[in-house]
Amino acid sequence: MTDRDIAGQGFSTRAIHAGYEPDPQTGAVNVPIYASSTFAQDGVGGMRDGFEYARTGNPTRRALEANMAALEGGRYGRAFASGMAATDATLRAMLRPGDHLVIPNDAYGGTFRLIDKVFGQWGITYSVAAVNDVDAVRAAITPQTKLVWVETPTNPLLNIGDIEAIAAVAHDGGAKLVVDNTFASSYLQQPLSLGADIVLHSTTKYLGGHSDVVGGILVTDSAETDEAIAFLQNGAGAVPGPFDVYLTLRGIKTLAVRMDRHSDNAEKVVEFLGTHAKIEKVLYPGLPDHPGHAFAAKQMKRYGGMVSVLVAGGRAAAQDLCARTTVFTLAESLGGIESLIEHPAAMTHASTAGSLLEVPDNLVRLSVGIEDADDLIGDLDRALS
Ligand SMILES: *Cc1c(COP(=O)(O)O)cnc(C)c1O
Repeated sequence: MTDRDIAGQGFSTRAIHAGYEPDPQTGAVNVPIYASSTFAQDGVGGMRDGFEYARTGNPTRRALEANMAALEGGRYGRAFASGMAATDATLRAMLRPGDHLVIPNDAYGGTFRLIDKVFGQWGITYSVAAVNDVDAVRAAITPQTKLVWVETPTNPLLNIGDIEAIAAVAHDGGAKLVVDNTFASSYLQQPLSLGADIVLHSTTKYLGGHSDVVGGILVTDSAETDEAIAFLQNGAGAVPGPFDVYLTLRGIKTLAVRMDRHSDNAEKVVEFLGTHAKIEKVLYPGLPDHPGHAFAAKQMKRYGGMVSVLVAGGRAAAQDLCARTTVFTLAESLGGIESLIEHPAAMTHASTAGSLLEVPDNLVRLSVGIEDADDLIGDLDRALS
């Protein structure tokens, strides 16, 4: 299928076919891992197919970038060596010393650390606003605000931001909207169609999906924004290698079936934990009493595989639960086929301690995998007894 044929196809068809056609010479149905740092030229400046040096561009990487652009409904994709490298490139492409950005009160700890500890030193200021409160986001925008940064669902509290409403508020204030779509994945939510200017993923998570690769991607529909991002991708050089890109593409092909199973299993785990005496509260946007449920229902296909809980008995009880599961592996990260459990206050979100983004210390975050749901529930049941 050519890219023109692909544009009108469904999500899974695009996931499997967009960005690469079988090799005309060999018929290989998968893009080769082009392990080449440089590309021969036919005379000075005579590049074949636009490739000269692999930091600037590599055919395996180009396939992933085109594939992700097709999945997010944008025109341009740019792959990076990690989600944080993509975050760093976004901030440097869009902000200059003296500029201001609005960040959510709940976000990936590494994003907050980069904005606060690194960009703070370069004269960039930020305000924190609750992502589920559009009026708070509006009130935080100043004449210097160039970016509004949103995660939805948020990491780790699973709050929901109304992307369409926040995009309108950002644009009214002369700012662009970045949505970190890592938790939802492209299958469950496509922020560009709701007004976002840039979509970011840590492809380490659901897109790669097998906990075997670190990567990041940015997708935009704006040629001007893409040009600024591409300049940094090449100029600063935080690019992924071709093997990492291949693994990511391989993962994306099964994204839809994995996300449906992640969502099925998460719903069952939520049902079990919701009635358990040792669980104070379950945070999951699929629950009708979740404060963001209506917005999640509007902008997400399903509610995904991430579940957070507040454990009765405080920090010690939360850490005890994490230490006692055996099917759920105690580890950072998320979005892989295997179930993971972690204690954000001591692990992924330790860098938010003492800040406005500090997380409750009896919070436990689950990345519900695609194992058999009964085994996951049995594991949690034993660990809580
Ligand atoms: C993991 C994560 C990141 C950072 O991505 P890396 O690939 O680990 O650099 C950014 N945002 C969210 C929501 C994440 O979960």
